[in-house]
Amino acid sequence: MPAMGNNNDKKLSLEEAREKYRIEREKRLRTDGIRQYKELKGDYEEFDRDPYVEPGFTRDAVIEDVDVVIVGGGFGGMIEAANLTKAGITNFRIIEKAGDFGGTWYWNRYPNAACDVESYVYLPLLEDTGYMPTEKYAKAPEIFAYCQLLGRTFDMYRGALFQTEVEDMRWDESTKRWNVMTSRSDVLSAKFIVIAGGVLHKAKLPGIPGIESYAGRAFHTSRWDYSFTGGSSQTLMEKLADKRVGIVGTGATAVQVVPKLAEAAQELFVFQRTAACVGVRNNKPTDPEWFKSLKPGWQAERTRNFTQAVTGAQPAVDMIDDEWTKMNWVDTRKLPENDDEALELERIDFENMERVRQRIADVITDPAMAELMMPWYSQSCKRPCFHDEYLPAFNRPNVHLVDTDGKGVNEINERGVIVNGVEYPVDLLIFASGFEVTTDYTHRLGFDPKGRNGVSLSEAWAEGPATLHGVLSNGFPNMFMISTVQGAQATNFVHSITATAQHVAFLIEQCVKGNIATIEPETSAQENWFETLFAQLWGIARYNATCTPGYLNSEGGGDMRSARAIAWMTSVLGFAEYVENWRQQGDLAGLVLTPNS
Ligand code: NDP
Repeated sequence: MPAMGNNNDKKLSLEEAREKYRIEREKRLRTDGIRQYKELKGDYEEFDRDPYVEPGFTRDAVIEDVDVVIVGGGFGGMIEAANLTKAGITNFRIIEKAGDFGGTWYWNRYPNAACDVESYVYLPLLEDTGYMPTEKYAKAPEIFAYCQLLGRTFDMYRGALFQTEVEDMRWDESTKRWNVMTSRSDVLSAKFIVIAGGVLHKAKLPGIPGIESYAGRAFHTSRWDYSFTGGSSQTLMEKLADKRVGIVGTGATAVQVVPKLAEAAQELFVFQRTAACVGVRNNKPTDPEWFKSLKPGWQAERTRNFTQAVTGAQPAVDMIDDEWTKMNWVDTRKLPENDDEALELERIDFENMERVRQRIADVITDPAMAELMMPWYSQSCKRPCFHDEYLPAFNRPNVHLVDTDGKGVNEINERGVIVNGVEYPVDLLIFASGFEVTTDYTHRLGFDPKGRNGVSLSEAWAEGPATLHGVLSNGFPNMFMISTVQGAQATNFVHSITATAQHVAFLIEQCVKGNIATIEPETSAQENWFETLFAQLWGIARYNATCTPGYLNSEGGGDMRSARAIAWMTSVLGFAEYVENWRQQGDLAGLVLTPNS
């Protein structure tokens, strides 16, 4: 039996692992936290350019009154549009920066991109479209095409304004409407706004000294340039055959893309700061007979079943039956009742991670490299990855792991990357460095709504966000948000987006049918909501305290202001049940509604 997590015959004890986790975490703590990253603007604006549209697009400005403006044409905006359509509210516009619907799946076209949660629970509204995903984990082109199908099914293209960004939106108290101004000089007057601005959509670059001096081709994974690499999502990138390629980052994106780069590049250098946790994937084609046999209501039931399994609720039947659901997940949101329980939870987590480390030892032929690729942190510190080709790619002679011992790449120069004084010249440098998650909401949106009396959302939230159910904020009548800020979150993002979009559609429908002019939460209701969220924080805060930094714990930092942005930390099923009960009460408690005059 090979060693567990190290290269001698001794099996690591829980105590030794705890100490190793502490050492590895401390190596990675930095005072600049999220400020270590750069935005794709100013000198880095070229990194943000949309490579998937023809340059030079123009259109006439749209000056119009509509019932609803939806900001964002990703899953959040699309599910909301579908819900509104089902409720008979069809006079809406969708404003989207990209050239089509899809959000994440518009931007992330890197080779081998795929959903990491099974498609049957990840692709929304499958029962409405009748679409059968071809594989258990559908690939990005299929998901993007599915977004287009959703757009056609619910007639969303009619109201879509693509390649357009909201620049400003202002509440007009005299008309009780919002005025929305865009980058294409549109002026839309809307009774309601739904901001579905995305959770992981603002790409970030590591602020590595010298990054701007690099003279070769460089791009972020969410802006893949196939004209440079050749090939496509599923075909060999033939133009890389004589190229030395570097990739910075080993998160969920890199895990998917590295095998394809390894196949294509002459040499591939993978610059690692923290090793990924990579479990078994076992993708397979969908059985059409099985899919046909599914009974109405199956998708919501299956979605609930997945979420139960990954939040430690252990459903009687595991419908999904994959590595996500077979894992003995520790409920990280639960505060242990006593030391014995805490130890037991820690032991389960440790044993799960030992299995991950064992797989690395089994697959990677070079034991020294295997050791460097071991994740030394608890299981939920970073998004777990599942892949069957990532680890074997490192056994290829053209693939080189450059481990930075937790420090990250030190320097970039015009030729390539420098780590520990060694220069790695590359022709192409790819940043798989992720997206902003914990920066201020308005920063991520790229605009700052001005509510009642011209007060901006960033001013109103100077001490941190204040909402009811994460969807409405005092001072911003008729403005709904679909985000994780004081809202729902889930391993299956689409589950939380769906629960929130349903809630928002319900509220808008109440206003339309009830002849309501404005809807807005009381400040006391916002405080009560925050207290409800805050009470759930302790379990996850305790868990995160020993985690290696990453976006799930504000890069190891965070303060009370950022704590106010917490989501409903226990299961999204709890969020959905809570808001459903609130709706059932029928009195819209905590909201102030004024009728149309
Ligand atoms: P992540 O934020 O998860 O990863 C960024 C990577 O860049 C990390 O490995 C990070 O290291 C590394 N990094 C940052 N700075 C440096 C530096 N200076 N030197 C070296 N390395 C550096 O981003 P991803 O794009 O991988 O994933 C983001 C999220 O997107 C995922 O967690 C997941 O939720 C989602 N996703 C979902 C997929 C799906 O299938 N549905 C597929 C891909 C992504 P460190 O860990 O040390 O910070």
